[in-house]
Amino acid sequence: MNDLINNIRETARQLLTDGKVDVVIGYEKGSLPLKATPCFVRTPQDVERLIWDATCENNLATYVAQTAGKKAIVAKGCDSRALVVLMQENQVVRDDLYIIGVSCQGVINKKIIEIQTGEIIEATITDGKISVKGMEGSKEFSFAEVKDATCQTCRYPNPVIEDIHLGGTVNVSQSTPFADVIEMENKSDSERQAYFNEQMSKCIRCYACRNACPMCYCPECFVDCNSPKWLTGGVDRSENLMFQAGRVLHLAGRCVDCGACTRACPQGVDIRAMNRKSAKDVLVMYNHEAGISEDIQPALNVYSADDPEAFLVKE
Ligand code: SF4
Ligand code: SF4
Ligand code: SF4
Repeated sequence: MNDLINNIRETARQLLTDGKVDVVIGYEKGSLPLKATPCFVRTPQDVERLIWDATCENNLATYVAQTAGKKAIVAKGCDSRALVVLMQENQVVRDDLYIIGVSCQGVINKKIIEIQTGEIIEATITDGKISVKGMEGSKEFSFAEVKDATCQTCRYPNPVIEDIHLGGTVNVSQSTPFADVIEMENKSDSERQAYFNEQMSKCIRCYACRNACPMCYCPECFVDCNSPKWLTGGVDRSENLMFQAGRVLHLAGRCVDCGACTRACPQGVDIRAMNRKSAKDVLVMYNHEAGISEDIQPALNVYSADDPEAFLVKE
């Protein structure tokens, strides 16, 4: 048991014992290898369920608005950014929330492993090495090899808002911001079209991406709307694109690049490529990054006379 897990459990135990919160939202060991699952701890005895490691991949901010009462939440950098956006959008009341901030070294993307081992049967993590027994073979990986793409370039691994900080802090990635987007922008129109056609052809519109996203909280998503009916129940490439394009636009200036949507996708669709392009454009045009400060209003919530309006002007 590492000190950080002990500290998370002790903090949760104290908060529940003192009656400061009704529930602690954290992670527990999941039923599948290398997959922690969100858990809701309501009694001091139950805090032993809480864990913390590189399998804690969900963005727990997704569950805050739906959980009644005063709550504490274990928050890594991207969870904390999502909480900031949710507070700015009046979905979460700050006074009802106690944020247990934990710096994050990144999370494992199981898909990277399963490409090489087939479905994972058993796995252990020891001293930064991940040993996997899969349906098609066994292999040992370093953490760097299986770290999710979003974590490779994460600029906010340390919580941006917290009531207590547990563990140390993590050095911020020095990689060129948005290098992946720039690479995509440098492709020709036909190359980009071919790439996104391929991605949209893979989508089965299961909506796992939407459901994993802390920012997708509309009581009725436009895809489920009957009047007007934007999409049929069928799956085809153009409707899949309509869904993802709608989602990207709704997430402009709000997506915190946690990668939860991409990791949740059973089809390996590169959802992140579209959200990252949107995030870069919002940064370039409005000098805004989602959820990095409570004091900075979301780009699309405010109007400034200096805002670029090229789309309104016909030359
Ligand atoms: S993006 Fe990855 S590294 Fe950054 S805080 Fe989230 S899980 Fe951790
Ligand atoms: S999770 Fe993947 S397959 Fe499911 S709707 Fe989203 S992009 Fe499509
Ligand atoms: S769109 Fe994906 S990366 Fe962005 S906040 Fe939602 S789950 Fe996270």
